[in-house]
Amino acid sequence: MTTADVSTFQAPKGTYDLLPPDSAVYLAVREAIAAPARRAGYGYVETPGFESVELFSRGVGESTDIVTKEMYTLTTKGGDQLALRPEGTASVLRAALEANLHKAGNLPVKLWYSGSYYRYERPQAGRYRHFSQVGAEAIGTEDPMLDAELVILADEAYRSLGLRGHRVLLNSLGDRECRPAYRSALQDFLRGLDLDEDTRRRIEINPLRVLDDKRESVQRQLDAAPLISDHLCETCKAYHEQVRELLTAAGVAYEEDPRLVRGLDYYTRTTFEFVHDGLGSQSAIGGGGRYDGLSEMIGGPSLPSVGWAVGVDRTVLALRAEGVDLALPAATDVYAVPLGEDARRALFTAVTELRRAGVAADFAYGGKGMKNAMKSANRSGARFALVAGDRDLAEGVVQLKDLESGEQAPVALDAVVAAVKERMA
Ligand code: AMP
Repeated sequence: MTTADVSTFQAPKGTYDLLPPDSAVYLAVREAIAAPARRAGYGYVETPGFESVELFSRGVGESTDIVTKEMYTLTTKGGDQLALRPEGTASVLRAALEANLHKAGNLPVKLWYSGSYYRYERPQAGRYRHFSQVGAEAIGTEDPMLDAELVILADEAYRSLGLRGHRVLLNSLGDRECRPAYRSALQDFLRGLDLDEDTRRRIEINPLRVLDDKRESVQRQLDAAPLISDHLCETCKAYHEQVRELLTAAGVAYEEDPRLVRGLDYYTRTTFEFVHDGLGSQSAIGGGGRYDGLSEMIGGPSLPSVGWAVGVDRTVLALRAEGVDLALPAATDVYAVPLGEDARRALFTAVTELRRAGVAADFAYGGKGMKNAMKSANRSGARFALVAGDRDLAEGVVQLKDLESGEQAPVALDAVVAAVKERMA
């Protein structure tokens, strides 16, 4: 390859690079989404970016789009079938089971995570092939308060960012008791419709997913479809009622959506989705629910669990759609502007000391002239500039300039850290 080719490389289709200054927004959004979960006792978990294909085909479901069409799979040189992770829950549960966290006697096991996920989807605004999620899972306990806790935590995360236009859609998918009867009632209904071959097959494998079909030609025929809400058993009904009461008591408004099924097979009972109307067709900014059967599906014991994943990319888009500007602290507090070689050395030392004292400091590298260096200082967002030339150094001082007010005062070279800290406080 010639070097000329290198400049023609682009990020792969459906992906984008995060670069300053926007990247700072992403970091802040991830942090804000995770903070409520951390405060609620969720511990950080990190799992590999790839897993055995089978974990997802068994966990997420053989008939889902994620598994049949969207997984990035590969065969290693050693012959292992791996997939880049398309979602977080199956991996996190696998990790918890493998480490026997559920046997440590403290259920639920509460975990949060943050990372990259991969789906070979048709790219469009808000839908990427590489995207970022923050998630939270509460493993091993059946308690409507946990379902409510998770919805409240995600809502709190969006609110703390200043988002106001998000809505919570809520449904119950029933359990092993009541879902089978609903499933056959739905199948009977769907078999009578005018549907294509693929969709007919889906009726037999996973009829609930047909409700999620976005095509107008399908949706038009679903008006009279039986609803799970009319088929819930007494236990599921009571459970759902408790979740609703807890959300209402916490002041989290929700909308019942009896058609909400979500794209993964493992959900039981509570399912929810956070949507935002400013995003066009990719309106889901987060989602989750209860997955009481997943542990057994991937070879573990019965561990009723509930969790969510929030899409970081789409949360950033939602903030933009609402015109919310996050108040991010400036990356640099002090910017050093040296004039001459002696000043370069003196200010380089001062900058190192400032950084060691916890002050964010940067330096006009490359021997820039005064005008250029001051431009860089302003662009850095720094509150103060440290300016020094030969005459200052002869007097043992540097000039500390407040870039907001324009005021400037000499400060003894050996008192720079103290002077900056005093003024910042
Ligand atoms: P899901 O597991 O599909 O419910 O995804 C959880 C959240 O991740 C969604 O609500 C989206 O915000 C986000 N998400 C899922 N797929 C994508 C994608 N292809 N591009 C961007 N964000 C996504």
